[in-house]
Parts: sequence; C-alpha cells; structure tokens
Amino acid sequence: MTYEYERVATPASGLRLHLNENTAGCSPRVIDALRAFTREQAAFYPDYDAPIAAAARWLNVAPEQLLLTNGLDEGILAVSIAALRGSAAADPYDAIVVVPAFDMYAACADAAGGRVVEVPLGGDFSFPLDRVLAAVTDRTRLVFLTNPNNPTGQPIAPAAIRAVASAAPHATVLLDEAYADFSGTTFIDRDAFDRLSHVIVGRTFAKAHGLAGLRVGALVGTPERLAPLRRVVPPYSLNACAAVALPAALDDRAYFDAYVQQVTASREMLYAAFDRLGVKYWRSAANFVLACFGGQCASTIAGLAARQIYVRDRSADVGCEGCVRITAGVTEHTRAAIAAIEEVLCGAR
Ligand SMILES: *Cc1c(COP(=O)(O)O)cnc(C)c1O
Repeated sequence: MTYEYERVATPASGLRLHLNENTAGCSPRVIDALRAFTREQAAFYPDYDAPIAAAARWLNVAPEQLLLTNGLDEGILAVSIAALRGSAAADPYDAIVVVPAFDMYAACADAAGGRVVEVPLGGDFSFPLDRVLAAVTDRTRLVFLTNPNNPTGQPIAPAAIRAVASAAPHATVLLDEAYADFSGTTFIDRDAFDRLSHVIVGRTFAKAHGLAGLRVGALVGTPERLAPLRRVVPPYSLNACAAVALPAALDDRAYFDAYVQQVTASREMLYAAFDRLGVKYWRSAANFVLACFGGQCASTIAGLAARQIYVRDRSADVGCEGCVRITAGVTEHTRAAIAAIEEVLCGAR
C-alpha cells in the first residue's frame, strides 16, 4: 500500500470551508510587518531569534525546547525520518496511526521507510486506548496522536496519552496539537510532559493565527529529543517572511481571541442547524465539525460547490461513510454555509 497526501482543489474564489483555514485572514499586523520587509531581508538568510523568542513565550517553554518548522507538516516529516530511518526494507519499523487521521502521518511514515499500522477509532470516534496499547510492539518506533483529532474533532484524555507514552518508551510519540488553540488544552503544561521525554508536541500557526500560506509550525520537546530533529530539519527551513510574520501574529492576542470566540460560536450555530435538519454530527473541540449526511453526502457537497461553498468530503475515511467536514470559523461564513446547506437539503426533499 502506498500513502500519498490527497491534494484538494483550492478554488481562488468562493468560501473555503474545506481546509480548516482562518477564512478571516491573518492579523493586519502581519501585513504591516511584511510591508516593512526590506530588500536586504529578502537577500539575507533569515534570523530566527525573534520568532523563536515569540513562539517560546506563546507556548510557555524555553527556546531550547522549541524547533520551528516550515509548517507542522515539515515537523511530521522530520519526526518520521528521525524515528523510522535505518530499518531494513524487509523488516521496517512500525508507525502507529489511529485512523481516521491527518493524511500526512501515513504519507511521511511511508516516505521515511516505515510500516504504517492503522488502529481504528472506537464507537462514536472514541479513542481506542486498548487497541493502541495492543498494537505497540518492539518494532514500534513512532506513535501519532492528534488532540483534538482531525477529522472528528474529538479530544483524547490526558490519561490515555500518558498510558500510550508509558507503554512505548522505546518509541517517539508525536502528539499533534494543531487544534489545541481551539480546545484550550495542551499537554505542554502537564507534569507528565517533562517526565515522558519521548513525547514531542506538534503545533502550528496555520490554523488559529491564519499563517497557513506562510508556513510556520513548531515541535516542542526536551533539548535531547529535539537534537536529532534539528539535524533533519534544514537550517533555513522557515523563509524570511514567515520569520517576520510570526512575532507580529503572536503579538496580536486580541485578534487571536476574537477568532477563537467566533469558532466557538460557529460550532454552536452548526450544531443547532444540524439538530434542526436532523443531520448527525459530533461535537468538536476544533475549528471544524464533522457531520454525517448519509446518502445525501455527495449531493450536498455538489450542491454547496455549485454555490461556491467548499467543504471536505471525508466519506472515504474509516468509519466516516457519508461524512463531511466543515470549517467552523468566521460566523458570517458559517451563516452562509448553513443557509446553503438548508437550501440544498430542503430542495432535495
Ligand atoms: C493542518 C494540520 C497540520 C499541518 O499544519 P501546517 O502547519 O499547515 O503544516 C498538522 N496536523 C493536523 C492534524 C492538521 O490538521
């Protein structure tokens, strides 16, 4: 089996509710900072002191515990290479992926020469702790956990994260917290994070901070655990614009707070609409909601696309038959999406 990231169409116009982006855009301060960008800054290799200091402050860790990456995607690739390289093709190391999951885990583990071991989520997308523990063997070198999960929006209890990490001390546990800004919980501030030094937390500034186009992510861990990753990630992996944008974005706390508030309101609006329409959904801790349109899945996606509203078809994912993932961000955009969903569903009835 080969694993490849399925590239999704990114229409230039219309409402993009299919990639969990901040559809309000980044903070205006980022654009101000980029306007002040000089010819020398373009010509010189970037300096990371300011973005590292800003990200360390934001995440409440020491600069030595932080590695900035070209999006969290690069962090996932770097962790995969460091954990899985060196295994023989005939007897590869294992990477455990709890599915459905972000496509990049399997793609990167595969690219790094590992074997992907898929463990399906439990009923109603609950975290399958016993099955994950049972999948850990002496060949396991990497375990991917996502809290909250994408595409289901479900959280993982800290005790379950600890249990997995304790059962796999010989592996790296990559705890992907891409959506932690919306759940408001992180493993970084837990005592267990200091104790379980093989847990690396992944963060991104793509989603809540709206920097997906500029590409900034971070890996957080002990200096010892990050050392092999620093040898994998190229020294100038973040470009100079991203290095300028990050401190500006993190400086605008009010902009971030306002967006997170809109996400919370948008989720509630979607729940209420789905209740009204009799569409099954799962309450989410992230900036998206997964909903099941059953036999009307394809026609709903097509009907929305005809109205230039793009949502993500997740119906091919394990246990997600008939499911669509919708970004819950700017309330005005959510309102437009709900009106279109009602039109499409009621027109079909
Ligand atoms: C979006 C996303 C990422 C990637 O973030 P980038 O910083 O844009 O590379 C990583 N993990 C999950 C679960 C995501 O949804």
